[in-house]
Amino acid sequence: MIELIDSHCHLDFADFAPDRLEVLARAKAKGVTHFLVPSIGAHNWQAVLALASQHQGVYAALGIHPYFLANFDDSHLQLLDYYLTTEKGVVAVGEFGLDKMVDFPFEQQLQICKQQLLLAKQHNLPVILHCRKAHNELIQLLQQVKLSRGGVIHGFSGSSQVGMQYIKLGFKLGIGGVITYPRAAKTRQAVSELPLSSLLLETDSPDMPILGYQGQRNEPANITEVLQTLTKLRGESEELIAKANVSTFCELFLS
Ligand SMILES: [Zn+2]
Repeated sequence: MIELIDSHCHLDFADFAPDRLEVLARAKAKGVTHFLVPSIGAHNWQAVLALASQHQGVYAALGIHPYFLANFDDSHLQLLDYYLTTEKGVVAVGEFGLDKMVDFPFEQQLQICKQQLLLAKQHNLPVILHCRKAHNELIQLLQQVKLSRGGVIHGFSGSSQVGMQYIKLGFKLGIGGVITYPRAAKTRQAVSELPLSSLLLETDSPDMPILGYQGQRNEPANITEVLQTLTKLRGESEELIAKANVSTFCELFLS
C-alpha cells in the first residue's frame, strides 16, 4: 500500500467526537500513517496535545488562528511560549496567519501573526500559515522575520508566481480539496507546474470538502482523492507523488 500523510486535519474538533477512532482507522486502512493536527487558539491546545499523546502517528501544532481572535489576550502568547518550551511533542507553530475576510482589525492581525512567527523562530520550529487575500503582507512579514525552518502555506490557492515567492522563502504549499474543483483553474495550473518537493497533501478535515462530497464532513481518508487529482494534473504516478510527500513532510516537521 502507498504510504500517505495528512499534513493538516482538525481531528480534535467536535465533528469527530462521535467516531474519532473509526475516522483514524478508515484513514489508516487507506495507508495514512501520519496526521498533523494544527490548533486554532488557546481554547483547544490541551485537546490537540492530548490527541497527539494518545494516538500513534498524530502530531500537534499550537497557534492562534485569525478566525478566533475575538477573545485574544496577550497572555495567550505567553502561554504559547510556555507550551512550546515545555511540550516536547509539538512539531510546529500553527495554524495562524492573516485573513482580510475576518472581522478583526488587520493591523492587529499583523502584530499577532508577527509575534507567533517570532516564537517559531525562537523555538526553532516550522510554521503552519493560513492566508486569505493577504499574500503580499504575509510575504513581507516572512521576509522581515526570516524563519529558521520555514513552514507550509496551508490550503494554498493562487498562481504559480505567488507559489514560487513562498517556495523561495523556504516554504511548502499545502494542497487540499480545492484542486478537485475545475473552477479552481489558476490553482490547478499552479500545482501542475510547481516543484513536486514543494507540495504537501492535506485535507483540512472536517472542512474543505472534496468535489462530489460537498455538505459532508471531510476526513483524512479522503486524502486519496486529493492525491488522485494531483496525479492527473501533474501526469506523475501516485507512488512518486506520495513518496515525495512523505519525505517533504518528515524533513519539514520531524527532522
Ligand atoms: Zn485548518
